Amino acid sequence: MSVTTHPGDVVMDYDEALSKFDPVLGLEVHVELGTDTKMFCACPTTFGAEPNSQVCPECLGLPGALPVVNAKGVESAIRIGLALGCEIAEWCRFARKNYFYPDMPKNFQTSQYDEPIAYGGRLDVELGDGAIYRVEIERAHMEEDTGKSLHVGGSTGRIHGAEYSLVDYNRAGIPLIEIVTKPMVGAGERAPEVAKAYVSALRDLLKALGVSDVKMEQGSMRCDANVSLRAKAGDDPRGAQQLAVPLGTRTETKNVNSLRSVERAVRYEIARHAAVLAAGGSVLQETRHWHEDTGVTTSGRVKSDAEDYRYFPEPDLVPVAPTRETVEALRATLPEPPTKRRQRLQRDWGYSDLEMRDVVNAGAVELIEETIAAGASPTAARKWWLGEPSRRANAEGQDIVTYAALLGLTPVDIAELDQMVVARRLNDSMARQVLDGVLDGEGRPTEVADARGLELVEDAGALEAAVDEVIEANPGIAAKIRDGKVAAVGALIGQVMKAMKGQADAGKARELILARLT
Ligand code: ADP
Ligand code: MG
Ligand code: ZN
Repeated sequence: MSVTTHPGDVVMDYDEALSKFDPVLGLEVHVELGTDTKMFCACPTTFGAEPNSQVCPECLGLPGALPVVNAKGVESAIRIGLALGCEIAEWCRFARKNYFYPDMPKNFQTSQYDEPIAYGGRLDVELGDGAIYRVEIERAHMEEDTGKSLHVGGSTGRIHGAEYSLVDYNRAGIPLIEIVTKPMVGAGERAPEVAKAYVSALRDLLKALGVSDVKMEQGSMRCDANVSLRAKAGDDPRGAQQLAVPLGTRTETKNVNSLRSVERAVRYEIARHAAVLAAGGSVLQETRHWHEDTGVTTSGRVKSDAEDYRYFPEPDLVPVAPTRETVEALRATLPEPPTKRRQRLQRDWGYSDLEMRDVVNAGAVELIEETIAAGASPTAARKWWLGEPSRRANAEGQDIVTYAALLGLTPVDIAELDQMVVARRLNDSMARQVLDGVLDGEGRPTEVADARGLELVEDAGALEAAVDEVIEANPGIAAKIRDGKVAAVGALIGQVMKAMKGQADAGKARELILARLT
């Protein structure tokens, strides 16, 4: 069965596609390093600055300007390589990748070609059910980012239909590390999930290394997803028979910029390739663009393996030759490996396996860690993040980190909310209302509580009066409690809270009732 989702694109039902073909993935992740200055000049790298305010003759490609390597950038590249279990080259060079693009003023990108700084690593990725998929890393190399084009006047922000275009070179020359996987085979129907889990695990690792702010929504981490299908040989996707089948033609979907999009784009391409192949066609090797709104990819440019960038070694830069002592010194600065770290955090926080799994699957480990550091209890941090923020992020199709960043909801906010509960300024349901207010952009928690007039009634007289009234109105229940059936107190607390219109401390109400009746 085939369904059309976009003019010209026919996709096969996903399960049917997987019954006929075996998907193979290759992920290329670009990460912008958080260095203070650019890779080959001293320009600052601050995000969001006035266009073209962070440029100099070198990153503008003016005649005569010479590049100088950013040592911090090289260190970060080595640390990333080591964290991925790669070998670190004893000697390697930069290379010029020649092509024209208006946002690339030098007319070539300084990159690395056949001599990457790091090669041959791996990252073990935990899937939602705890299964581990090992991703083999081909290489991690250093390069520089391009500028940014802004197409003005059209409805889509794309060049087609635009009246004119502007270029901002602030980003040109910001250090990038490109991390490339070997072809990922054997994931079978879980290929989209594996792709997402890999990017997520890589993001966590890079964050722990402190080398980048890894904000996918701001483009400091971007993913190109290569997908191909091959004939299915037997039911075991990692079986020997299957591994002998040659790889199919791949497409490369560019700049997928959220975790969920990675999963969706891979899934879409699998279904699209399957329809092409099943109809007797052949997949065109090309780049494709992902459309978040419609959930489809469209054709970009045809790309062959022999694409000729006329790479040659960069003559203006000396080779990079880190001594083994330097490499070992950098190895000593690596953070705890992610799986170990997770086990330690689970122990420290006292979470059950299931609770920890939920937190990991929600992608909320870092947020919770920061919230606890800001003063919340582990239980409260988990409860608040996995509640409404998580629910809304899911509904919006965002991962929680990106979603919280977009809304400006921070760990400090959640800790502040928790402190108001602990200090008995808010009860639980009031805290939930405050959180709703924060999520709706009404301000920080204390501001929302003030603006919405949410505050537990501290007037002990009013609470006592309500308790007395409720006891008098419910002689039967009161008698039960007097007889020692303390569990019945819940019914009275409920009525007291109702009488107080929710603005009371349930714990205090309970104390007062029991003090009267026992
Ligand atoms: P390019 O220059 O085209 O971007 P790269 O070598 O940088 O090529 O990256 C290609 C990515 O695609 C790598 O992750 C590689 O493992 C993967 N890949 C190569 N061949 C296939 C294939 N047939 N199917 C899926 N992925 C592939
Ligand atoms: Mg590439
Ligand atoms: Zn510069």
